[in-house]
Amino acid sequence: MKFYIVAQYLAQIEKESSRLVITKMLSELISKCPKDEISQLILFLQGQLAPPFKSIPLGIGEKLVVQSISLSTGYRSRKVNEQFNLKGDLGLVAEELISKRKQQPLAFKELTLTDVYNAFMKIAKNAGEGSQMRKIRYLAELFNSSKPVEARYIARFSQGDLRVGIGDPTILDALSYIYSGDKSMREMIERAYNLRSDLSLVAKVLFENPNKLKTFQPTPFYPIRPALAERLPNAEEIFKKLGKCYVEGKYDGMRIQIHKKGNVVKIYSRRLDNVTHMFPDVVEATKSLPYTSMIIEGEAIGYDKKKDRFYPFQFTMQRKRKYGINEMKKVIPLHVYLFDVMLINDKNIMDKSYEQRRKVLFDVVPRNHKLFKTPDYIFANSADDIQSFFNKSVRRGLEGIMAKDKDKPYIAGARKFAWIKLKKSYGGLGDTIDAVVLGYYLGKGKRTAFEFGGLLIGTYNTVRGVFESLARVGSGFTEDEMKLLKDYFEKIKVKRKPNNVDSNIKPDFWVVPKFVIVVTADEITVSPMHTCAKEYFKNKKGLALRFPRMISLRSTKGPYDATTSKEVYEMYKMNK
Ligand code: AMP
Repeated sequence: MKFYIVAQYLAQIEKESSRLVITKMLSELISKCPKDEISQLILFLQGQLAPPFKSIPLGIGEKLVVQSISLSTGYRSRKVNEQFNLKGDLGLVAEELISKRKQQPLAFKELTLTDVYNAFMKIAKNAGEGSQMRKIRYLAELFNSSKPVEARYIARFSQGDLRVGIGDPTILDALSYIYSGDKSMREMIERAYNLRSDLSLVAKVLFENPNKLKTFQPTPFYPIRPALAERLPNAEEIFKKLGKCYVEGKYDGMRIQIHKKGNVVKIYSRRLDNVTHMFPDVVEATKSLPYTSMIIEGEAIGYDKKKDRFYPFQFTMQRKRKYGINEMKKVIPLHVYLFDVMLINDKNIMDKSYEQRRKVLFDVVPRNHKLFKTPDYIFANSADDIQSFFNKSVRRGLEGIMAKDKDKPYIAGARKFAWIKLKKSYGGLGDTIDAVVLGYYLGKGKRTAFEFGGLLIGTYNTVRGVFESLARVGSGFTEDEMKLLKDYFEKIKVKRKPNNVDSNIKPDFWVVPKFVIVVTADEITVSPMHTCAKEYFKNKKGLALRFPRMISLRSTKGPYDATTSKEVYEMYKMNK
């Protein structure tokens, strides 16, 4: 497929604001793609060379792109940098400077999608001495053969984001449109995606034989998109919804999905990154479990044996550092609270009820194991049972409880009231919100020195396919954090409001919506200023946070699996 066609479609989509039109245009583009290039196209649209669990990062810094543009066009790096500072978008810089090159390249070859993908793969895999120079050259060669609009998306892809407002939900809808002209096939396609976590593979199989998607089963080393928890305001509501149910302690650690086949073990994070390197102790312990294959899930949390207490989340996360893991292993011994099982000895048990899965899980976890544990739990016969277990769990230092429908299967990638969480109170909301940063403000008064005055945050509306604004957050940051945030946002700022953002408020700078922070507030209120969940209100009103503050700089969630607008609406109703 000619890359020019891809670039032209993307430029059209970028100008469009109607979700439906975007989905239709995207499905037209995908349907034009030959079978053997479909995986590359989907990955290109997602701004990645491979799904996260395959760990093939692009590894291209801004400086490298600046130097490549300079090498290809004949403009000095300083000039390219000036343009970058002005536009805040390397894509637009590449497009403009390539349209008025100072030097014509010796060789010009019309690019195909495969050429572009392969060139980026070559760049990603290049390592060792002199690799930086080689990478610059390879990228410059791509620019040499680029038309201006192609250069825009090549430069943006190098930064992992095409900035056209297409997320996975839109791609899923577009794939369905190709075959049914509407969203009716989305559920089937999404099921396959939930089991493989690789949209490029799903699209390829769909193109070959749509019926084959139905046969997908959980398979080791393809992470399963995690089941998610709903919230309800109190024990009574939970009991009303679930009736007699299992209630477990909610541990505030890091969710891990452990896969085993033969003697190979891999571990994936909630965002489906391969994090095996962080947990050599878990790998060893899993290897010694007597099963030929398994997929199990649990919460890893640092445990202080002397004080019989769990370490705070941030402390456990220190294991993220690649080096010194073995030392960390001694300093921060782990407990892994296994709470679900999806596959055992090649047998899919995802579709069994939780009651049945628990039985398997209790067989899997050896008694008195020093690392693997099962969560504290009760079988609740009443709302009072739930309430007293909640009180006990919070006293023990846990985050709250997780109530589970005994009859439901493992519901990958979705909520649907199979799990309901009740957390100890944070502010007035009874929970925290994982919100996406949409823009930032410059500082005033004392904060002028940092040029940072807070953030405009929002949530994703899965139906409308846009990020909606929710609050301006100005407190909860330390000075160091403000500096860090400002430096980071400087890099992802964009000139115009991205077309997948719906906001009546204009921050000083817009950013690409991809950074997720954890916030809380005193209350959720209806406001004419914000757009969150606006479809539920008249007169263009939406939801806003009262006295919002930041709790944690970084969430473990990505922009599309952070708190959704609908969830904020549910929280609003709950708090009322
Ligand atoms: P939240 O991130 O607040 O939506 O809560 C859901 C998270 O709680 C899951 O993703 C798990 O990481 C974590 N969790 C802790 N304990 C449990 C448990 N017993 N069962 C399921 N999830 C748990």
